[in-house]
Amino acid sequence: MKHIPSYEKLLTELNNLKKFEQQLVNSEKKYRSLTENLNVGVYRNTPGAKGKFIEVNPAFLQIFGYKNKNSILGLHVSDLYETPSIRKKISDKLKTQGYLKDEEVRLKKKDDTSIICSVFASAVKNSTGKIIHYDGIIEDISERVVLRDKLIENEEKYRSIVNNSPDIIMRVDSKGTIIYINFKYAGKTPKEVIGKTIYDLMPSEFHHKAKDSLIKVIDTGKSFRYEHVGLSNDDKVVWYRNNIGPIRSNGNVIGATIIARDITERKQIDIIKNEFISSVSHELRTPLTIIQESIAQVLDGIYGELTDGQQEILSPCMEDINRLNRIINDLLDISKIESQKILINREMIDIVKLVKNVMSSFKNKVEAKNIKLKLKTSLKAIEVYVDNDRIIQVFMNLIGNAVKFSEKGKIEISIMKSENSVECIVSDTGRGIEHKDLATVFDRFHQVGKIVSTQEKGTGLGLSISKGIVNLHNGQIWVDSQINKGSQFHFTLPIYTVDEILFENIERGIVKATKKHIKLSLLIIRLNNFEEIENKFGLDKAKETTHKVLEAFQDVIAPGEFSFIKGRNEVILFSDITQKNILSIVEKLENILANFISNFSKELDIIMSYGYSIYPNDANSAKDLLQSAYKTLLIKNNYK
Ligand code: ADP
Repeated sequence: MKHIPSYEKLLTELNNLKKFEQQLVNSEKKYRSLTENLNVGVYRNTPGAKGKFIEVNPAFLQIFGYKNKNSILGLHVSDLYETPSIRKKISDKLKTQGYLKDEEVRLKKKDDTSIICSVFASAVKNSTGKIIHYDGIIEDISERVVLRDKLIENEEKYRSIVNNSPDIIMRVDSKGTIIYINFKYAGKTPKEVIGKTIYDLMPSEFHHKAKDSLIKVIDTGKSFRYEHVGLSNDDKVVWYRNNIGPIRSNGNVIGATIIARDITERKQIDIIKNEFISSVSHELRTPLTIIQESIAQVLDGIYGELTDGQQEILSPCMEDINRLNRIINDLLDISKIESQKILINREMIDIVKLVKNVMSSFKNKVEAKNIKLKLKTSLKAIEVYVDNDRIIQVFMNLIGNAVKFSEKGKIEISIMKSENSVECIVSDTGRGIEHKDLATVFDRFHQVGKIVSTQEKGTGLGLSISKGIVNLHNGQIWVDSQINKGSQFHFTLPIYTVDEILFENIERGIVKATKKHIKLSLLIIRLNNFEEIENKFGLDKAKETTHKVLEAFQDVIAPGEFSFIKGRNEVILFSDITQKNILSIVEKLENILANFISNFSKELDIIMSYGYSIYPNDANSAKDLLQSAYKTLLIKNNYK
C-alpha cells in the first residue's frame, strides 16, 4: 500500500515551497535592481555565429543608444560590431580562454557612430561542459581612449625629441648622481653612466663650478648655466654648456635636469673673434690716445683761446672719445677674459672696506639723482682672497648699472658670509628687467629695455666682464629682477683656507718658474708657541707677533724680492732667487729673529723657527716643495 503523507505534512511542505519561492523572487528582485541601477552595461548572450542577446540592463541600452530592450533582444551580437568579422575572433578567444578581461572592442551604436568599449565576460557552461551562454559587463571607454592616445602620442613626441636631441639630457639627484641620460656619453651606454655622478664626466677643475650650480638650483629652485670640458660620444675633448634646472616633488626640489650642449665650435669661433677684437682694439688705442691728447690740449687753450663755436664742436668730441675709450677697454677686457689670458693677482682683501671705497666714488652721481646708497652688513671686515682691482671693477659695474637704471629710490649693497663663501648683493629699486631677458643680460653686447641717454650709454659688456671676473674667482653671479620694481645682482666669492691659497700660489709659481727656467724658493717663518701666546694675550696679539717678524724682514730685503702669504701662525714667502742668494737671505733672517725676539717683550717668551726649500732642487711638485720646507723647519734651531 502506498504511503499517503498526512495533510499536515503536505501543508508544511507547501508552506516551505512558498517561502522558498518568495526567497527566490526577493533574490531575483535584488539582483535585477542591482544590474538595473549599475551604470555599466550588463548582458547575457548565446554563443555561436548567430548568437543573440538574452538579457541586457538599461545602461547597456543607453551605451548603444536603444530605447527599449526588445529591439536589442532581436539582434545578433555581431550586429553591434563595427567590423562584424571581429566578433568571431573575440568569441573564439572567450571560448578557449573561458573569459575576457578588459578587452578593447570597437562597436557601433544604433545611429552607426562607433564607440570603443571595454568588455569583461565569462563563458557559462552546463553540467556536461557545454557553453550555454556568455555573461558580460561592458563600458564605453571612447573618451578615455582618445585621451590616452593623445597622452601616448605626446609622450612619444617628447621621447623622440629627447632621444633625437643633439644635446645630452640628464636627470640627477641632489648629490649629482645620474638617474637618467638620453643617449650614449663618451661611447658609454646609458646603463654604464647611470649611477655615476656628473663630476665623473668632467675634469676636477670644473667640479667646484658644477657643485656650486647644483647646490644653488636645489637651494633656490632657479636655473643656472655653466661651461665645462668633457668628452664627446667619440671620445674627443669638447666644451659643454650645461643648463641646469630644478626637478620638484611636492613643492621640494629633489634633483635637477641638465641639458649639456656641445659648444666647441662656438668656442673655437670665439677664439678667432677674440684675437681679432684684441688686435683691432690694440691698433685703435694708440691713434685714439693721440687724438684725445691733442683735443685736450686744444680745449685747454694751449694753442690759443677757443671761440664759443670751436668749444661747442670739440667738447662733444671729447665725450665721444671717452666713450670710445670705454668701449675699447671693455673689448680688450672681454677678449682677455674669454681667451683666458687675463691675469688675476689675488691677495687677502677686506671686501667691506673695498665696497665702502667704491661707494664713495658714486657719491656725486647718487646725490644728483636723489638716490640713497646704503651698505647693509653685520660684518665689520671680511677678508677674501681676490684681485682687488678686478673686484672693484665688478662693484663699479653693478653699482654703476643700478644708478644708471634707477631714477629714484635706493640702492643697497649687502655683504653676507656663509660657511664657505661671501655673498654680495647690489639691489636697486629701478626699472628692473623683464623676465624673458633675465637669462641673457650676462651675454656680450646685450642691452635690454629702453636705451638710456647717449652720455650714459654703455657697451653691453659690463655684465659679461663682471661674470667673467667672478667666474675667474670661482664664484657665481646671477640676477633676480622684476620689471618696474628693481633688480638684485648677486655674486659669491669662495672663502679659501690659508693652505688652499698657499697651494695654489706654489703651483702657479712652479708653472711660471718652469716656463721661465728660473727657480722658486719657499721660505716659511713660524711662531711655534702661537697657542700659548694666544691664550695669554689673545688672538690679535698672537697674529701680530707673527706678522711683525715679516715687517722686520721686509726692511732688509729688496722691495718686490719676495711675495708673501700671511697665515695664522706663520708667514710664507716666495721668490725666484737662487740657492746662493737664499743662503744670504737666511743669514739675515737669523739675525732678525734673534734681534726681534730679544727686543720684542720681556714678559713674552716667543719661540720662532724657519724653513726653506727650492724648486726644482728639492722637489718637483707643490706638495713636495711644501713638505720639504716644513721638514727643514722642524729640524732648524728654534729662536727663543
Ligand atoms: P651696459 O650697462 O653697458 O649696457 P651691461 O652688460 O652692464 O651693459 O648691462 C647689460 C644690460 O642689462 C643693460 O643694458 C640693461 O639693459 C640691463 N641692466 C643691467 N643692470 C641693470 C639694472 N640694475 N637695472 C635694469 N637693467 C639693468
